[in-house]
Amino acid sequence: MIYSIDKVAQLIGAKRVGKGHDNVIAFLLTDSRSLCFPEETLFFALRSARSDGHLYIKELYDRGVRNFVVEKVPTDNEENYRLANFLLVDNSLQALQLLAERHREMFNIPVVGITGSNGKTVVKEWLSELLVSKYTVTRSPRSYNSQVGVPLSVWLLGNNSEVGIFEAGISQPGEMVALQRIIRPTVGIFTGLGDAHQENFSTMEAKCKEKLELFRGAKAVIYPFDDPIVRKCMVDSESERVDWSLTDRHAAFWVESIEKSDDSTCINFVWRGTTSGSYVLPFIDEASIIDSFACASAALWMGVTVDMLKEKMSTLEPVAMRLEVIEGRNGCTLINDSYNSDFNSLDIALDFMNRRPDHAGRRRTLVLSDILQSGQAEEQLYESVAELCEQRGVEKFIGIGPKLCANKEKFRRVGERVFFPSVSDFIGSKAFAKLHDEVILLKGARVFGFERLTDLLVRKVHETVLEVNLTAVVANLNFYRSFLRPETKLVCMIKADGYGAGAVEIAKTLQEHRVDYLAVAVADEGVTLRKNGITSNIVIMNPEMSSFKTLFDYELEPEVYSFRLLHALVKAAQHEGITGYPVHIKLDTGMHRLGFNPERDMPELIGCLKGQNAIIPRSVFSHFAGADSDNFDTFSDEQFRLFKMGSDMLCNAFSHRILRHMDNSAGIEHFPERQLDMCRLGLGLYGINPRTNSIINNVATLRTTILQLREVKAGQTVGYSRRGTIERDSVVAAIPIGYADGLNRHLGNRNCYCLVNGRPATYVGNICMDVAMIDVTGIPCKEGDSVEIFGDNLPVTVLSDVLGTIPYEVLTTISNRVKRMYFQD
Ligand SMILES: *Cc1c(COP(=O)(O)O)cnc(C)c1O
Repeated sequence: MIYSIDKVAQLIGAKRVGKGHDNVIAFLLTDSRSLCFPEETLFFALRSARSDGHLYIKELYDRGVRNFVVEKVPTDNEENYRLANFLLVDNSLQALQLLAERHREMFNIPVVGITGSNGKTVVKEWLSELLVSKYTVTRSPRSYNSQVGVPLSVWLLGNNSEVGIFEAGISQPGEMVALQRIIRPTVGIFTGLGDAHQENFSTMEAKCKEKLELFRGAKAVIYPFDDPIVRKCMVDSESERVDWSLTDRHAAFWVESIEKSDDSTCINFVWRGTTSGSYVLPFIDEASIIDSFACASAALWMGVTVDMLKEKMSTLEPVAMRLEVIEGRNGCTLINDSYNSDFNSLDIALDFMNRRPDHAGRRRTLVLSDILQSGQAEEQLYESVAELCEQRGVEKFIGIGPKLCANKEKFRRVGERVFFPSVSDFIGSKAFAKLHDEVILLKGARVFGFERLTDLLVRKVHETVLEVNLTAVVANLNFYRSFLRPETKLVCMIKADGYGAGAVEIAKTLQEHRVDYLAVAVADEGVTLRKNGITSNIVIMNPEMSSFKTLFDYELEPEVYSFRLLHALVKAAQHEGITGYPVHIKLDTGMHRLGFNPERDMPELIGCLKGQNAIIPRSVFSHFAGADSDNFDTFSDEQFRLFKMGSDMLCNAFSHRILRHMDNSAGIEHFPERQLDMCRLGLGLYGINPRTNSIINNVATLRTTILQLREVKAGQTVGYSRRGTIERDSVVAAIPIGYADGLNRHLGNRNCYCLVNGRPATYVGNICMDVAMIDVTGIPCKEGDSVEIFGDNLPVTVLSDVLGTIPYEVLTTISNRVKRMYFQD
């Protein structure tokens, strides 16, 4: 559906300013980095505490965008925007939401709104699978469920949409009303109540009520009857109550029995007290089973028959929420997106590929399978896919499947292109053998079996991997940012290879989220970042005297903590003819590690700095020795007093602004009033709260697999020095991780455990260099099964507590041979 610019102006009540043409609008944009079709795009300049879309208007205009929704028309040279249309509004976000509301009103079709603490995306994807043979479904891409994501999703409704399915997520009271107005669900699904974002709500009930706001005016609401809070909140609902229950046979969807086998679950149900049915779900985990109840209830309510439900349920597939980035063979990087293959998620994945700063000298390749069940006419679909590839800068297109083969003509404008009927044909081809130095996005509908491609393209690695969740890194960043004033700058510490998580990928993510500074320990770490396309400011915490030239060459800003270092640095800079090189001055206020003494050194330090022009102080900082514990608060007060004194002297001596910073992760939370101009975030970014030793959003999961299982009889021993005595007949698994991987030897001999299929398995005997043995007696498992050493389900702090150390040490001692694998939800 296409709107004229005047129509949009009228719909959102905006004043049209400027002399642009009467353009048509097909795409809405809120993040300048995602631009794809400039001519038909309407950019909304959104303002938030930390960013302002108005700053990107000029750049977007230069890239061809002509239509802007703004709160303020740019005041720089009018000639700069000769062909622009500005729609002037009071609030751009509200305008975006209003436009989506008006767009929604054009559709008199069933619209499903999904909310709840967990499972929204899975329920959305599965329900869409259940309905797709009956209707053409338009749904939110990935998990676009926020105040911005929901309007963008609803905008996707088009002439051929027969059902809409949209998810809505909130973190604050008051947010749901806006989402309700945009989605206006005719059917609501409440997936369940959990404790996410509870800090912003007074009670669980308050949070539940707020979420249920989404369903105002809906004909029917599907919800779990067995949760007493939800049940209570649903009492005054005016919608038809379509509840599901494991306990109450009067529920609309009564789960009569559940039979689990090794790899599937059979569910017998009674629908509305009269119709019995059953289905086999190809999953056995609790969450999937629960999600299937909501899906089944909704599908039945929407007219899917019991037989159809049974057929479709058995073919449901796991919903991959991840975009994985994996190091491939022959200099390739693989981006593996196994999320359902559809046009919108292809666009998101291509955008993700483009934003990664690692294209230097490498081609952008897309391997795409036929897109199934798009609801669009084939011709038109592949026409749009081809156009998208062109706009998103795909340099090489590899199409897999009969439909793409039949439509190859449409891709004639993509530089290099090849087509194969199946994955096997591609694997046997020259094109496959020739892949090298490319960034390859793999996006295939599941029936095409793209996992065979990934297996062949991934560099063969040790089976032990550290999985790093980049979405969690961003969530942690935002958690700590929430303590800061909008203007407070942030240094993110990615020393020790990003606390073990891998500095390069972490840095790429942080750069994308516009962190002001990155900090590493030594110059070489900084060089690696620069060589991988990191352009952010980088601080070097421990510059070596021998590395000054490297610092200058790669624009790395050193910390300066002593007169010896200061003099040597000035000399080296002068030697290179450098002036005004930024440095960061460290004061020792009580940590007694490195730094100038604020009570003694300031006059001499100021004198030295003023007597030359090779370097200039960019910032001055100190480090709390005990921000993680209230016991040291008096000491911290004294540290802060000394820092104020020393930094005041330095700042007053110079006319330019010198940034002051003192808070680390613990300090940001404990002393937000001491945030000054900047803070330094370390451990918290990696998901560990240093004050409580609890996990914020888990970032790193260390995983391996079972190599071999064996039965060991009572009385025998396991491992070196016969330390692992077996007291009852047992099953012991060997796993390919040892102390050389960073699995501390002191965890052995039943001092700690790992998780096998969710159940704790203790380490038996001494941990070896490359292998460890675990007791899996009574745990259902087989060779090849995954083992979690620590991570999403077993906090790393359990290990550090057993070892009598801190999580920092456990994370940073994971050795280099453990492959890091990155993903985004
Ligand atoms: C490592 C480090 C930090 C970060 O500390 P966390 O406790 O990990 O937040 C901050 N400042 C300096 C000087 C550091 O060396």
